[in-house]
Amino acid sequence: MRVVVQNDINRAYGNRATRRRRAGVRGALAALALAAAVSGCTQPGADKAAPPAHGAQPLHAPPARALDSYASRLRAAYAARVAAAKRWGLAKVPLQAPPAPAHKPEITARKGFEVDDQEELNLPPVFTTIPTKRKIVFLTIDDGENKDPAFLRMMSDLKIPYTAFLSNYLVKDDYGYFRKMQAQGHTLNNHTLTHPYLPGLSYAEQKREICGMQDIMKKQFGQAPTVFRPPYGNYNHDTLVAAKSCGIKYAPIWDEEVFVDHWEYREDDRSLHPGDIVLTHFRGRADWKGTMVDDMRRFLGKVTAEGYAVARIEDYL
Ligand SMILES: [Zn+2]
Repeated sequence: MRVVVQNDINRAYGNRATRRRRAGVRGALAALALAAAVSGCTQPGADKAAPPAHGAQPLHAPPARALDSYASRLRAAYAARVAAAKRWGLAKVPLQAPPAPAHKPEITARKGFEVDDQEELNLPPVFTTIPTKRKIVFLTIDDGENKDPAFLRMMSDLKIPYTAFLSNYLVKDDYGYFRKMQAQGHTLNNHTLTHPYLPGLSYAEQKREICGMQDIMKKQFGQAPTVFRPPYGNYNHDTLVAAKSCGIKYAPIWDEEVFVDHWEYREDDRSLHPGDIVLTHFRGRADWKGTMVDDMRRFLGKVTAEGYAVARIEDYL
């Protein structure tokens, strides 16, 4: 990304120099001449970091007048990301996720994670990874106990997407904190009323835990989610039937979990894979040795170092 942006900036600078020279000599003809230069062929080496030779322009450059503002926008956006990364103590600038895919992948239950009649009843699939070849991961944050204002500032500053799975007994003392999160573009999802071990409950009790949380979320946040995560990742047939009856379409769990001081992996290879769903929790110094900001620094440090960007899960569901 750094190289691409630098090239765009160099093109813009080259473009400005060209314009100044021509403006001095040819006056009103300058704009026409510049337009002709822009539509010319790319010369070998034009994509190198040095400013392009006179007249050399990329094949797919925006129109001449748009180029300056396009380049300054890119330059400003990148500078803002560099500054934000520095402000929050990140070793590297987080990578930007590619745009949402034109066609969403088909999400099915992970093998071995299906329940009886999964397909026949069209039950919400339980999965740990989203099928994609892109080097992206998805960040999901659970429960809602710790409500650190610095966490909201950090993620907004760095423009990192995530979704939250909320359990009512932990969030009810401050729904406003999660409304701020929602206002920043993050989706709030269902993680039950009281965070029970669902397979230990009857169907009716499970339904109350899931549908009850749907009702509260509709009232507090304006809409009932379509995404639900069973506490501890534990569920049975009744869980998914109950969830479906409450309007749930997906039941993602996770492939990796990040803590403030270490990572845990579901797979034996102990590594990140394209499309992996990563779990962490809203926790603070009372729960582990650090803040949410420290936790996010660990998360972003690893995914960035390994060449992954953080993408919006809603873009793939
Ligand atoms: Zn939980």
